[in-house]
Amino acid sequence: MSRYISPELGKIEEYVPGEQPQDKQYIKLNTNESPYPPSENVVKAINSEKVADLRLYSDPNSSVLINKLSEYYKVEPENVFVGNGSDEVLNFAFMAYGKSGALFPDITYGFYPVFGDLYNINYEEIPLKEDFSINPQDYIGKNKLIVIANPNAPTGLVMKTEDIINIIESNPNNVVIIDEAYVDFGAESVIPLTKKYQNLLVVSTFSKSRSLAGARVGFGIADKEIIRDLNRIKNTTNPYNINRLSMFAAAAAIDSQSYFDGNAAQIIKTREKTKKALEELGFTVTESKANFLFAKSDKIDGESLYKSLKAKGVLVRHFGKTRIKDYLRITIGTPEQMEILIEKIKEII
Ligand SMILES: *Cc1c(COP(=O)(O)O)cnc(C)c1O
Repeated sequence: MSRYISPELGKIEEYVPGEQPQDKQYIKLNTNESPYPPSENVVKAINSEKVADLRLYSDPNSSVLINKLSEYYKVEPENVFVGNGSDEVLNFAFMAYGKSGALFPDITYGFYPVFGDLYNINYEEIPLKEDFSINPQDYIGKNKLIVIANPNAPTGLVMKTEDIINIIESNPNNVVIIDEAYVDFGAESVIPLTKKYQNLLVVSTFSKSRSLAGARVGFGIADKEIIRDLNRIKNTTNPYNINRLSMFAAAAAIDSQSYFDGNAAQIIKTREKTKKALEELGFTVTESKANFLFAKSDKIDGESLYKSLKAKGVLVRHFGKTRIKDYLRITIGTPEQMEILIEKIKEII
């Protein structure tokens, strides 16, 4: 760190992404990417003509993509914002709405407290219940920015829509962000509720269910005034936030409905099969509705299992936090990859 950095920034604890090894080939089950490639439509959309067009700036309004998302989710284009990954949408939302403080669970997406620190937000991390579920009561009438991932990460657990509605209705003067990064793997989206509630911002991404993590495209759907706020921040930081290739890739991904449905169904099927296999080996596994499992062995601690699996070429995610240190978050890969995972676990335990 240089001696020139502002002292506040120098103190911030950075977000640490899951490993992205560039040397050795691992079975990579650590960052919730899709094991399936982007659709044929996406591959075709990135043609040499599009590459030649890289000399031009991208469309600052990302119109092609915004229009696709608006059709797909049956909202107006004015209700859609696109960001450089949903991380950017969350970043802007924390910047815009965190002034009066923020609330989110103690165990959730690790970027929320980082944004909280970055914007000097007075935030509170509310402990999940013993079973890792969120107690909706903790978020009723709090008059703060509320951020909930649904399904939550890394637990995979979902919240009932009626509980989300109660939280939204009881905090009318604050924004409620529902982060739906994993919603396509078996949960119910609250996007339709954005028509009714002006304080609801639903954030989602092309990184997981649409196989485009490397393209960095996420989006937010909300009342048009919220979308205006997000555009205001975008236009004061990075007006060309979506690059040309990624915009066309994401738009083409929306046009691949049957491919998308097939992949999500396969991942759900593989998830349930892997869950059963882990339970048979003595693991406790949460009721995940995401593209990962959250599991704890009755025979070996989390860190040792993580390390042994890595030595055997299988990469999963282990978190240091005391409460979940014996758990691993395991991304659902192909059926073959999950069979290898189970084999390696058997060898280890
Ligand atoms: C992966 C993830 C994101 C970030 O996704 P990007 O769109 O790739 O930035 C946001 N929220 C949650 C809960 C995630 O797991």
